[in-house]
Amino acid sequence: MKATETKSVVLLHHHLKALRLPTVAAECEKVAAQAAADNADHLSYLLRLTELELLEREKRAAERRMKAARFPTIKTLETFDFSARPSVNKVLVAELMRCDYIEKKENILMVGNPGTGKSHLATALAAQACAKGYRVRFIRTTELVTALIEARDERSFLRLKGQFAKLDLLVLDELGYVPASKVGSELLFDVISTAYERTSLIVTTNLPFESWTEVLGSERLTGATLDRLTHRCRIIETKGESYRLQDAKARTNRPGKSATRTVDEAPTQS
Ligand code: ADP
Ligand code: MG
Repeated sequence: MKATETKSVVLLHHHLKALRLPTVAAECEKVAAQAAADNADHLSYLLRLTELELLEREKRAAERRMKAARFPTIKTLETFDFSARPSVNKVLVAELMRCDYIEKKENILMVGNPGTGKSHLATALAAQACAKGYRVRFIRTTELVTALIEARDERSFLRLKGQFAKLDLLVLDELGYVPASKVGSELLFDVISTAYERTSLIVTTNLPFESWTEVLGSERLTGATLDRLTHRCRIIETKGESYRLQDAKARTNRPGKSATRTVDEAPTQS
């Protein structure tokens, strides 16, 4: 390479850095050699490079959204066994994977016993939302309530609420596993009403509607919460017993299979 060429490459890298185009900087020489070999014109060369930059940016942004969502474990729809949970409408889940409900600010309520795949489905749906560019947060309901209670002064409370207000989708996992205090219920109601028609919610719960009063404390608050939540809401019921229990039983009953394998060793564990 001639000295003038080397100088322009150095300058080019300097400009690309200033313009914040790291992928163009990393790929420009390789793609230039390829373009020369393919007899591609200047515009096709530029097109290839800008495509690479955009793809890389999108990939990194999606990774950031996944990280910001703070999923406890990553679950996908591919690993969800629909045949083990016939009450879950596969067509509805496939439709929800398109994320139109987020555009329409609709909610999803997942009701069923512990271990029946509610968090798994909620995670798969929310991860898909991240991939599609939505801002998502996954949080256990008790954790959210504790954080709100602990944000004692006005400023940190508003900052926390502001973080939730920016979301497109909020997953409230395990609503109702422990009864909330009076203050806790009111704070939770506040989050749910702030989200109403602005942020989609996915709520997972083991509680049938008639038991919500026991957890939220007052009839009035329960009525108001359910009213916000279930207006424009899709309900998925994961009926039956725990998946792992079901899986372990099937393993034990299968002729010729060892019955000594423990549930924790099952390949479906998280
Ligand atoms: P829940 O939130 O209803 O208590 P989870 O979603 O946490 O239940 O499910 C418990 C475990 O069983 C997880 O590891 C999950 O991946 C697995 N699981 C539950 N249902 C299914 C299913 N239908 N197919 C595959 N794995 C499942
Ligand atoms: Mg769960």
